Amino acid sequence: MVVQHDDDGKPLRMIGTNSDITERRQAEVERVNLQNQLLHSQKMESLGTLAGGVAHDMNNVLGAILGLASAHIGTQPYGSPLHQALDTICKATERGGKMVKSLLSFARQSPAENNKLDMNAILREQINLLERTTLAKVRLVVDLEAQLRPILGDSSALTHAFMNLCVNAVDAMPETGTLTLHTRNVDNDWIEVVVEDNGMGMSKEVLEKAMEPFFTTKETGKGTGLGLSMVFSTVKAHQGQMAIESEPGKGTRVRLRFPACAEEAPVQAAATAGHEADQIPRGTLNVLLVDDDDLIQSSVQIILDALGHTAVTAAQSGEEGLALLQAGLEPDLVILDMNMPGLGGIGTLPLLRRLRPEVPVLLSTGRADQSALALASAYPGVTLLSKPFGLRELQRHLELIGLG
Ligand code: ADP
Ligand code: MG
Repeated sequence: MVVQHDDDGKPLRMIGTNSDITERRQAEVERVNLQNQLLHSQKMESLGTLAGGVAHDMNNVLGAILGLASAHIGTQPYGSPLHQALDTICKATERGGKMVKSLLSFARQSPAENNKLDMNAILREQINLLERTTLAKVRLVVDLEAQLRPILGDSSALTHAFMNLCVNAVDAMPETGTLTLHTRNVDNDWIEVVVEDNGMGMSKEVLEKAMEPFFTTKETGKGTGLGLSMVFSTVKAHQGQMAIESEPGKGTRVRLRFPACAEEAPVQAAATAGHEADQIPRGTLNVLLVDDDDLIQSSVQIILDALGHTAVTAAQSGEEGLALLQAGLEPDLVILDMNMPGLGGIGTLPLLRRLRPEVPVLLSTGRADQSALALASAYPGVTLLSKPFGLRELQRHLELIGLG
């Protein structure tokens, strides 16, 4: 302890020794760090919830637009102004649909699959792709640990994440530069992947916001601002960690860590939807459409009309659909929305199967995630139909189950 005195020699105040101060400062810095981390993860969580909700509603809006445009495009002569307009509407909704998918994968809290994976193999695929496309101007340095431990996860989500990181790195090196991919085992419990570039780097302000959805410094049409937020949620869904180091003019290093899996972890086979629908002769199908959204109801009816299937019974909820079946409705096909208030798809399907064990079901959902896949494979004759869908997708699914 050091006691300071004023000019008269009276004790002024007591302050800690240097080492005391250092310790206290360090504790304070750590506290602030932890608080920031907590705030950040709370923010990402609420953004995820928001994004998931928006994406779900947006899917239905897009579904209605795509449904109507795709149902009418065939009625117009090819090349006519109306045909061109409808074609543009279809393309625009497809692009919107891709954005919605990115939003949904950002909002997703758990990986869609949990397979035993070799991260090096995923990166090698990425490297192949880079070599064939963007890399004339960018030098690629690859340093992969030979005995990299496997992890558990979803290879397509991880591939998508690395693609986003590599695109960012290439974007950051408009003239020329070096992109480095590096993997290694860390202790016994983790593997680490580093994606590094020596491009333009980020200012402190950009770095702070970089992982937020829709944050982009790129011109309209080039960046969506969903890349890093999607990488972040994929890493989080894999119980991993993510850190970005970057400085203007000094490049960027993105460091990801994933828990290594125990050697004896089971390798799960991908779930596949089995269906053995009886062949029903072509012609008018009796369709029961269960969806709470009016927009989807009218657009699916119009698509089915355009396909020549005119007998559609609509139900606003699983409960209503089941009541119709109980009252004796005999549909040839049920289109069941996964996401509805009340019973929803998950609650409705088992009861529906008890009432009509044979009827083919198209389970329509904005997110073909693990719960949708599990539900589709738990019952025979259930096929996933990914939202938003237009005439062509619905037709393809009908053909797939022998009803087209
Ligand atoms: P987008 O690439 O669509 O802009 P991202 O979420 O992938 O969205 O990235 C957000 C922003 O973070 C980018 O616009 C860019 O400013 C910055 N950024 C990301 N990666 C890098 C990088 N490797 N080097 C420099 N800046 C980057
Ligand atoms: Mg990006």
